[in-house]
Amino acid sequence: MSSQNFSSLDLASDFLDNLKSLGYHTMTPIQSQALPLALAGQDLLAKGKTGSGKTAAFGICLARKLRPSVSRPQSIVLCPTRELADQIATELRRLARRMPNIKVLTLTGGIPIGPQLRSLAHGAHIVVGTPGRIADHLRKRSLDLRNVNTLVLDEADRMLDMGFIESVECIVQQLPTKRQTLLFSATFPDNILELSQKILSNPVRIEAESNN
Ligand code: ADP
Ligand code: MG
Repeated sequence: MSSQNFSSLDLASDFLDNLKSLGYHTMTPIQSQALPLALAGQDLLAKGKTGSGKTAAFGICLARKLRPSVSRPQSIVLCPTRELADQIATELRRLARRMPNIKVLTLTGGIPIGPQLRSLAHGAHIVVGTPGRIADHLRKRSLDLRNVNTLVLDEADRMLDMGFIESVECIVQQLPTKRQTLLFSATFPDNILELSQKILSNPVRIEAESNN
């Protein structure tokens, strides 16, 4: 019994209505495994393939914790590429569209840093980006991590394959230690297990192989 309705989760009715309006009725397997644990504050080491609905699996958890009145970043989502960051940001904006003025900012490499600095100066609730550029912002002291309560690593195996391990570790070292960390990966090679031991706290390991 892996199919479950989103209404079984502890979510506000406004938020559930928005999910319905997005056409989200039944949770995908990774969502039904991850969300009850993530919403209860657990760290997760989650295996999930492309198209399995990972973004909402963490996005709903981020959205529920958001405090709109705090305009400093509360969640950081690390992912391997600019295209993925844009896709994740679009999905997060859809999930949060009934919440007042939630700003989701993408910080990725390969584009000028100036406009990113200006956007950051105006505040953001969620930052989605690639590890190299986020580490650049930390060196420039343009990104304030003090209010971050959730770190997500999406497609973690690809991030490490692309050589981002040092940047990931540099970012994690500067995050509050009291936080929730959710790591998603299509595979669990040794380097992912090593990283997870360093950055996750008593994680629950979940695997959802099928797409339905
Ligand atoms: P992944 O990150 O695992 O590759 P996505 O989070 O991008 O997958 O989701 C894939 C697609 O499925 C997106 O278009 C998303 O809007 C849609 N989707 C996710 N969860 C659900 C759901 N529970 N019901 C319907 N559509 C969903
Ligand atoms: Mg994805």
